[in-house]
Amino acid sequence: MRQDIENLINYEIKNNVITKRDYIYVKNQIYGLLNLELDYKEYKPVDILYPSDALNNILDKLEESNMLDGSQTARDLFDSKIMNIFAKLPSTIQNDFDLLKSTNNKLATRNLYEYVTHLNYIRKDRIDKNISFKRASKYGFLEITINLSKPEKDPKSIAMALNSKQSEYPKCLLCKENEGFSGNFSRDSRNQHRLIQFNLKDEKWFFQYSPYIYYNEHAIVFSDSHHPMKIENKTFERLLDLTDEFDGYFFGSNADLPIVGGSILTHEHYQGGSYVFPIELASSLYEKNINNTIFKILNWPLSTIRIESKKKEEVLLFANKILETWKNYSNEALNIKAYTNEVPHHTITPIARKKDNKYVLDLILRDNQTSSKHPGGIYHPHEDKWHIKKENIGLIEAIGLAILPGRLKDELEDVKDYLILDKKLSENSIKHQKWADSFKALATKENIDELIESELSKKFEEILEDCGVFKLNDLGINQFIKYLEGVIL
Ligand SMILES: [Zn+2]
Repeated sequence: MRQDIENLINYEIKNNVITKRDYIYVKNQIYGLLNLELDYKEYKPVDILYPSDALNNILDKLEESNMLDGSQTARDLFDSKIMNIFAKLPSTIQNDFDLLKSTNNKLATRNLYEYVTHLNYIRKDRIDKNISFKRASKYGFLEITINLSKPEKDPKSIAMALNSKQSEYPKCLLCKENEGFSGNFSRDSRNQHRLIQFNLKDEKWFFQYSPYIYYNEHAIVFSDSHHPMKIENKTFERLLDLTDEFDGYFFGSNADLPIVGGSILTHEHYQGGSYVFPIELASSLYEKNINNTIFKILNWPLSTIRIESKKKEEVLLFANKILETWKNYSNEALNIKAYTNEVPHHTITPIARKKDNKYVLDLILRDNQTSSKHPGGIYHPHEDKWHIKKENIGLIEAIGLAILPGRLKDELEDVKDYLILDKKLSENSIKHQKWADSFKALATKENIDELIESELSKKFEEILEDCGVFKLNDLGINQFIKYLEGVIL
């Protein structure tokens, strides 16, 4: 244990989270928290790759001495207490960030990202376990990640969560009250979580990194108050303003309706980061230049209009027009319907970025109608893809990165055994039978990994096609152009 503490402190000094000057203070604090007796013995630190290399050993020892109950949740709650000893107060982090941002915007975000990663707020050891790959498709490259970073809760943690009182504080996982929050069996701890406060026009907003990053510098910005997501004119304005505020970052929003939205609709927030998503590289099927504002229909499975202009107000003017007309657009021949009675079906998933001094805004048209044939959603993954993914196609997937459930790791091993060794599929994996049979004839021992990856990518491509409102056939493209020209000409 003492050796591990030494290794951890050494790691944080080497990564500039603390300095050598802080050594005695930090050591005393950790020993105090762990109820360990201090002495003058010296330990020679050993380099570690992640904080968890030391933390896991410390937590094991705490379990042996019954300071922890053996559940994963108790471990996660406790290790963030240890890590918080290394963390600066929010005001110091804010001041350092603001100061650096005024001279080097990109470095400010990069440093903050590294800082919270080294603090184990972003559990990089878990994220690095994700399986990720890229494959070519009709629409350019698509990316797949099998998400193994959020481990399934162990039975003990589930039982403790059931028995614990559901707290009303903080109101949700995004609220600013999470900063420094200790957590409990029903709520993740956010001890070493730190926020950056900033203004968008006259509104107060907060910037943070996602603890479950799916791509480089996966950031989240959220509103000061806890209120529901809404796609409106102001959303586009904020997203474009955010690209001014944080150099080199894209910002996008999940749609605000169920089925086509993200997982948290109760708190207004956007996602951003330093990453080139597949949609950014998509070619176009249609282009029109009106006074140096360029309109494109992208060769992308979800129906996407791109507006590019040096003038922010031009982009906003047309984005607003598209939102208003889309909300009321119906096309019987294509089964596109704006409302059922008073219930609206149409919204937009927007993504903003800056490129070559131009503002670029992608507007992905969404429709959340259901039918008796597709009770989960007509423009939602259809049932024949549920063995891979059943969940909503939110912002990140809509722009070309599939986040697939962790269960697939074991299930795909089963599928491989079935394809190569003819071993029967297990009960959990039997849902993949039809899919596996469709490419069984192609499988060899040598190509199996490659084959599974490309078949998964094909499935993702089809999932995205299910979500496209204007299908990319002659009729669909023709009607899509007609709709867009009706708005812009
Ligand atoms: Zn909230």
